[in-house]
Amino acid sequence: MIVGVLGLQGAVREHVKSLERLGTDTKIVKGEADLDGISGLVLPGGESTAISLLASGSLLERLRRMAGEGFPMFGTCAGMILLSREVDGAPSPYIGAIDIGVRRNASGRQVDSFETILKVEGIGEDVPAVFIRAPYVTRLGERVVPMALYAGAVVMAREENVLVTSFHPELTEDLRIHRYFLGMIEEKDEAKEGEG
Ligand code: GLN
Repeated sequence: MIVGVLGLQGAVREHVKSLERLGTDTKIVKGEADLDGISGLVLPGGESTAISLLASGSLLERLRRMAGEGFPMFGTCAGMILLSREVDGAPSPYIGAIDIGVRRNASGRQVDSFETILKVEGIGEDVPAVFIRAPYVTRLGERVVPMALYAGAVVMAREENVLVTSFHPELTEDLRIHRYFLGMIEEKDEAKEGEG
């Protein structure tokens, strides 16, 4: 299994490191040609505006199509913004693969960044989470499962093949959220084999 990491801007290396520590092969994705041969894609944090400007329109469109066909994707922070259906009250111009609305920079300015411990559904009660100018979920679609809350707001959610966190698990030593995403890819691969 090879997992792609969108490598246009942001915390790319940190995700690669977390995946490699789990023994997973990784591939940096900068354009459509790099999507060949990967079984899932991580969209890192950084600046969603910068990432979307660096991504060609056809790459975003291709990712939108792949997500719609069930391809596993995991977005952290800016990556979550790229995957959300609505951003700051308007329809997303990006990928829009998960039926949620987000508000950017909901945790305030960069100086307000913080680290905390979260209870994450199906993963554990003591998952460390680093928030850096994090987006918060303002609307949750019916089919979206909230997986973690912070101060009453949803900060991690999943809709089938799409997983998002407002925080940065790749900036901690804890690998459980990455392992959970690998589990989503494996589930999908098994389902595919079942069809064949
Ligand atoms: N606030 C950033 C954005 O809008 C996200 C911050 C992050 O990814 N750490 O893209």
